[in-house]
Formats: sequence, structure tokens, C-alpha cells
Amino acid sequence: MVTHSPRKMLTAVDRWYRRHARVLPWRVGPEARDQGVRPDPYLVWLSEVMLQQTTIPHATPYFDAFRKRWPNVKKLAAASWEDVSAAWAGLGYYSRARNLHACAKAVAERGGFPQDAKGLRELSGVGPYTAAAIASIAFDERIAPVDGNIERVVSRLWAIGSDGTEKGWRAAKVVIAGHAQDLADALPANGRAGDLAQALMDLGSTVCTPRKPNCLICPLNAMCAARAEGNPERYPVKADKKATPTRHGSAFVLVRGDDVLLVRRPPSGLLGGMMMPPGSVWADAKLKDPLEGAPGKFAWERIGEVRHVFTHFALKLDVWRAQAPAHAKMSGEWLAREDALAALPTVGRKAVALAIGDDDKRR
Ligand code: SF4
Repeated sequence: MVTHSPRKMLTAVDRWYRRHARVLPWRVGPEARDQGVRPDPYLVWLSEVMLQQTTIPHATPYFDAFRKRWPNVKKLAAASWEDVSAAWAGLGYYSRARNLHACAKAVAERGGFPQDAKGLRELSGVGPYTAAAIASIAFDERIAPVDGNIERVVSRLWAIGSDGTEKGWRAAKVVIAGHAQDLADALPANGRAGDLAQALMDLGSTVCTPRKPNCLICPLNAMCAARAEGNPERYPVKADKKATPTRHGSAFVLVRGDDVLLVRRPPSGLLGGMMMPPGSVWADAKLKDPLEGAPGKFAWERIGEVRHVFTHFALKLDVWRAQAPAHAKMSGEWLAREDALAALPTVGRKAVALAIGDDDKRR
């Protein structure tokens, strides 16, 4: 019979974290915490926003670059949107970059980050998870942020699954969040809630992995219901995934000498405010006129296709290329090729790189 004593769990997790904590550029490790070093809420916030849609290895160079260029929230608040969006290019979800910039301005104006989850939730782009993560990691509030790693660990510890439906999984998530919060509540008043959250994140990432969890070395193996059942991998039982729909569109790469024409997308919506090559709408079916939305009357030539997967759909873009005469005046911005590639989000970069690569071969 498995017992779930939160106090015992906390002791086991703390001991494990002190030996196995991952070294991350935004983290203050347990030894430094012992010596009184406090996490910087700006760095915690920045890392959490970056990590919402991507992995640690992918986000780390971006984090390092942001930190070097804008070492505090005031500096980021004073940066131009063009600079922030260009530095964000490749991290996806430009609405996040917009919210990040708006949030930095609001925080700089109020003189610092709110120090609890309730106050943090009022900031632009800071949802319940991010608020809980910042509040616990930066301010040791006893609140449980439940990311995918913590969700998996907790679902296994208590063997919480679902019937595979959306409704069932939503209900299971509430139970999982409740158990995660029970653990945070069991911390002593001056306990390091941030260490608990980060320890569970690390445990999920390195030991209690989605496939083949390494239960033998897990500090919680004697307290784990899923392990006792004999098949921990079956947890969590999430709702069945729906097939990702595909959208279709065209991207028009207009080249003038060494420059490429880019246009800025409308401020809201997907890739809001980002530079892109001119393009068509993105439709559920192949476009009847593939040159719909092409700028100017040029000899457009189809170069190929790029694919990009967003969270809710996959995009297939037909890439077209044309050469504009030296005097051509167009609405948008002509950018040198390297600058254009640096300013583009990933999907735009794929399209322009395909067109330019082909163009280069013709020179
Ligand atoms: S015992 Fe295994 S399944 Fe349970 S929490 Fe540890 S690694 Fe995960």
C-alpha cells in the first residue's frame, strides 16, 4: 500500500534536488540559495515566457542574448518593438513577444514585479501558470505551478488518469493541480517553494520522463502509486489528440539587387507585428489562384514549398520569387538579405531562404 505523506515527499525531493538540480542560466541553485542569493524575478519571468512554447536548449541562446542586451526590465521596457521582435525571431508566437514588451513597460512603470501570483496575473501575457511559476520561484510563495513535467510526476505519484476524453482530462488536471498544491501547502512557512517547484520540474525532465521513467533512481519511488501498479508509463492519460489541420498559402519573395522586400503583418493575430515576405491569406484548401496577394506585376516563378507547424495547424506555403527592377518602389521595406533573414520569424525565414538559395544558384 502506497502512502502519500507530503512531508516525506518534500524531504525526499529536497534531498534529491540538492544533489541533482540542473544548472540553468536563469536559476539560483540550492547552494546559492543557502548563501542568501535571491532569484531575479526579471530573469525568471523572461525564462518562463520563452519556455512556454519551446525547449530549454532552443530557448537558452535567446535567453542569453536578451539578458546581455537588456539586463533588466527597465532596459527591455526602453527597447524599441522592432529590436525586441527581431531578437525574438525564431522563438515563435509573436503575440508573446508583444506581451513581453508590454509587460516590461508596465513593470518598469510600477517600479518592479508584483511579488505574489495574484498581482502577477494582472500583467499583460501572464497567465495563471506563469504567475504561479514566478511567484514560487522568485518569491517563494507556496503556490504550485503545474507545467507538463510536474503534471506527469504528480499524475503518476497518485495514479491519476482520465477516460481519454477532453472532459475527463480536464477533470483529471484539476485533481492533479490539487495534489501539487497540497505539496506546496505542506512546506513550512519559510520553506523554499521555488526549490520545490524546480525540483519537481527537474524530476519530470530527467527521471520521470514520458517514456521509460527511471523509477529505480527516483527519490519518490516508495511513494508512487503508478509504480506500485506496475505501469507508470500509462500516466497521465490525456485526451486523445485531434489531427492537426493543414492550411495553405503563398509567400512572394521579391528580390531587388541584394535586397528582399518584407512587409509588416498587422499588429494582432498570429505573427502579429512581425516582418514577413508578402503573402496570400492562409486558407483551409489550396488557393484557386496561387498568385493571390502577389505584390506588383512581376514574372513570378514558383520555387518550391515550405512547411511549418504552429500549435493548432500546419502551414504549407508555396514559395514564389521574382526579380524587381532597380528603381522598383513598393510598399514595405527593402532589407539586405542577411538583415531580412535575421528579422524574420522561422516560417518567413524558411520561405526567403528557399527563394534566395535558389536565386544564389542562378548568379
Ligand atoms: S517512481 Fe517512477 S513513475 Fe513514480 S514518480 Fe518516480 S519516476 Fe515517476
